[in-house]
Amino acid sequence: MSGPTERVAIVGGGAAGAVAAIHLLREPRARGALEIDLIDRTGSFGAGVAYRTADPLHLLNVPAVRMGAVAGRPEHFHEWLADRGEPVAEEAFLPRGLFAAYIRDLLVRAERESDARLRRRRGEVTAIVAHHGAAAAPLELTLADGERIEADRVVLALGPLEAGDPIPVPAELKASGVYVADPWEAGALEDAHRDRQVLVVGTGLSMVDVALTLCAGENGPRVRAVSRHGLVPRRHRRTLTNLRRFHLPTETGRLEPIVAAIFAQICRVSRQGDDWRDVIDSMRPVTPALWKALDLEERRRFLAEHHRLWDVHRFRMAPAVADRFEAHQASGRIVVEANSIVSLEPHGARVRVFLRTPGAHDLGQVEVDRVINCSGAGTDLRRQAPPVLAGLLAAGAARADELGLGLDVSPGGALLAADGTPSERLFAVGALRKGVEWEAIGITEIRDHSGAVARQIVAAGERAALPEPTALHAAATASEWEAA
Ligand SMILES: Cc1cc2nc3c(=O)[nH]c(=O)nc-3n(C[C@H](O)[C@H](O)[C@H](O)COP(=O)(O)OP(=O)(O)OC[C@H]3O[C@@H](n4cnc5c(N)ncnc54)[C@H](O)[C@@H]3O)c2cc1C
Repeated sequence: MSGPTERVAIVGGGAAGAVAAIHLLREPRARGALEIDLIDRTGSFGAGVAYRTADPLHLLNVPAVRMGAVAGRPEHFHEWLADRGEPVAEEAFLPRGLFAAYIRDLLVRAERESDARLRRRRGEVTAIVAHHGAAAAPLELTLADGERIEADRVVLALGPLEAGDPIPVPAELKASGVYVADPWEAGALEDAHRDRQVLVVGTGLSMVDVALTLCAGENGPRVRAVSRHGLVPRRHRRTLTNLRRFHLPTETGRLEPIVAAIFAQICRVSRQGDDWRDVIDSMRPVTPALWKALDLEERRRFLAEHHRLWDVHRFRMAPAVADRFEAHQASGRIVVEANSIVSLEPHGARVRVFLRTPGAHDLGQVEVDRVINCSGAGTDLRRQAPPVLAGLLAAGAARADELGLGLDVSPGGALLAADGTPSERLFAVGALRKGVEWEAIGITEIRDHSGAVARQIVAAGERAALPEPTALHAAATASEWEAA
């Protein structure tokens, strides 16, 4: 990239923001003319919510050989471990904290090997002002403390939307710490191992992590995990899945033929000695195309009727995690139930939980020492937009995707303005793209999306460095006049 310095701000310093920074720094054409601000409100860069855990029981849910963070190189993490003298089996499920070390090392190396400049800044971006019509004017980012930063391009890597509490929670329970809104906050589970009974809201992978942490000691609490469906993630196989392409009929835009094709393929691979995991994993590269081919109403129906079932097959427990979890279930230490929580009520130092079992007329109730929210991310951008996105939406510089799960983006990750025009300046990686791509939050997609966004940013910078077409046109017209 030649010409004036290009300033890029990346908002969010979790895995997605860090991987986006790594790709920008590694972009060969970008060197020497790029300044990057990587901004995170927690001041932690590279680990984010998923990988900052130091608990060795918290394992990656993807085999090592598929967790590479460099676009087009899924095996890069596995190679990195071997280069450090710590070779592991390709199919190993490693501690998540180790993956954070990998991302941080990649970032430091990319920084060292690039002429571009990277600044890590702690702060929450609350607004981004995009000046309409002023193509060359910089974007202005405002931080919560009032500081302002200018940038030519911005990558939004905010992670998932915050969902808030799944039910109204009395202030007293929040203040006393008896209700834990976010188990991933530093120190959130510090006292919980002294409890006798804990109720976890949600039965997905976060619940599994929390339950294993609480049950690590012999004298820890009993855990009751509840969700409306009571479904728990399935387990990974100990060997790598065999990825094989198969035909998925997308022409009709309807779900039924696709579901039928998936079941037929499961039967086929089962007869050949493989299993459903091969089919689910084989779909991953084509899932975004499949998702986009579905009619809007069919995508809505998938969310309403199939989402949970899909998630428990798609987001699976590492084998060692599943072994441990199932052993605790067998001993009665962990119980999973299909129940809806109706309300919470302080009860001395404890909490009384009112529950409704599907089909039951009367409410049930239990008393526990603590309630921990693992109910997952927000799914409604229109209601749950953080200030920085609310401002962009209100200004028409961004729009929600059709389902409102996140932002509408071009195939390359540029935000679409209210009128559908792809931005040359605003991009997104990670969970904000889920509504458009469906597969957007795993490292597989984050690495490839980051590579594409980095290339687009460099190309846009090159275009901006060219003389304005209107100026060229004016110059040509003037010389024509002079010649005449
Ligand atoms: C517990 C867990 C385990 C997982 N395990 C795996 C796995 O094994 N393999 C896999 O591929 N995927 C896994 N995932 C998926 C995971 O979502 C991604 O791999 C990745 O961690 C997502 O990173 P992110 O940067 O998008 O989000 P986050 O980690 O949430 O990071 C977003 C960051 O942005 C910051 N931020 C948000 N808003 C602002 C703002 N306005 N200003 C400044 N900073 C802001 C936040 O503070 C946060 O630090 C897991 C997810 C979870 C939750």
